[in-house]
Amino acid sequence: MHPFTFIKAGDNNTAIKAATENAASKFIGGGTNLVDLMKMNIEKPDKIIDINILPLKEIKKLSNGNILIGALVTNSDLAYNEMIRNKFPVLSEAILAGASAQLRNIATTGGNLLQRTRCYYFYDTATPCNKREPGSGCSAINGYNRIHAVLGTSDKCIATHPSDMCVAMAALDAIIHVQGINGERKIMFSDFHTLPGDHPEIENILQKGDLITAVEIPALSFAKNSAYVKVRDRASYDFALASAAVALDINNGIIKNARIALGGVATKPWRATEAEQALIGKQVSANSFKDAADIALKNSKELKFNSYKTELAKRTLISALNKIGGIA
Ligand SMILES: Cc1cc2nc3c(=O)[nH]c(=O)nc-3n(C[C@H](O)[C@H](O)[C@H](O)COP(=O)(O)OP(=O)(O)OC[C@H]3O[C@@H](n4cnc5c(N)ncnc54)[C@H](O)[C@@H]3O)c2cc1C
Ligand code: SF4
Repeated sequence: MHPFTFIKAGDNNTAIKAATENAASKFIGGGTNLVDLMKMNIEKPDKIIDINILPLKEIKKLSNGNILIGALVTNSDLAYNEMIRNKFPVLSEAILAGASAQLRNIATTGGNLLQRTRCYYFYDTATPCNKREPGSGCSAINGYNRIHAVLGTSDKCIATHPSDMCVAMAALDAIIHVQGINGERKIMFSDFHTLPGDHPEIENILQKGDLITAVEIPALSFAKNSAYVKVRDRASYDFALASAAVALDINNGIIKNARIALGGVATKPWRATEAEQALIGKQVSANSFKDAADIALKNSKELKFNSYKTELAKRTLISALNKIGGIA
């Protein structure tokens, strides 16, 4: 493992200053992703800044009805929070579908947003990988690409974004609160993660030293009619092959509003806005759900071993819509 210095930051400004003055520094939350990557020499920070005593562990309701989740709230505390369970079941279900109970007890909201891909070539330092070593090539495109993305890919990288929580947050239009060397700002969830394009090593729009302080979930009355469905190779714990986060506003059998995001099939948490629009004004029915699924996957770009994902993602989405649409 690459040698590093370790500091414990007592306040946000100290953490941000420490991260800004050193190019190869990293904050550590639960450490469940960062430490694994350091052990494998994929992440090689010179400085680790422990942020665990910062006051970012609260979940609170704002005066406008939105929910503010501190960046250090653990995945377990968020998933089991009463307000989240009642008003945003999709978020609770997505988190509980991820990792194991032990991991969720220590993994943080901020760390979950920044967890890195599970592409096996990314972890294998003996193989080329543009994300790990820019310009070296992508071993997955012509390799064993069974777990890889069919949406949002480029000719440089086809790795999926691994998070379950982020899929629900994409559907809920979350807002990420960030504090940097020049002050505080808010980032819309859809703008936060970037597509691989020519630079798969860049995964989000954060700047050096930026600390995620919170995630805000806008009040959305129909989010109480929401669900997360995840398909994976094994039930104990595993990353999604396909997943869907959905919410529907239904009045007298007619869909008034819809939210759809997909996981496991795209290079970033994937909001399917065209499929949402296609549902609005339609009757709740197997046909309207199938049409929406076809639209959501219409740009699917399949490779040798992942072509099954197009149909799997459609069925996963239909299953999630059936669940909240009341179709058996
Ligand atoms: C065996 C295993 C199975 C898993 N299965 C799943 C799964 O099925 N679904 C799923 O979604 N996830 C899964 N995970 C991933 C897990 O959810 C993440 O590892 C976890 O959420 C990361 O949170 P953390 O606090 O431990 O992050 P850390 O490892 O501490 O940090 C991750 C990254 O975020 C940065 N960071 C952390 N906090 C902040 C902050 N506040 N501001 C700025 N940067 C920050 C760190 O510098 C680092 O780059 C699994 C992990 C393991 C080990
Ligand atoms: S898919 Fe992305 S992460 Fe995987 S080998 Fe190719 S460049 Fe690396």
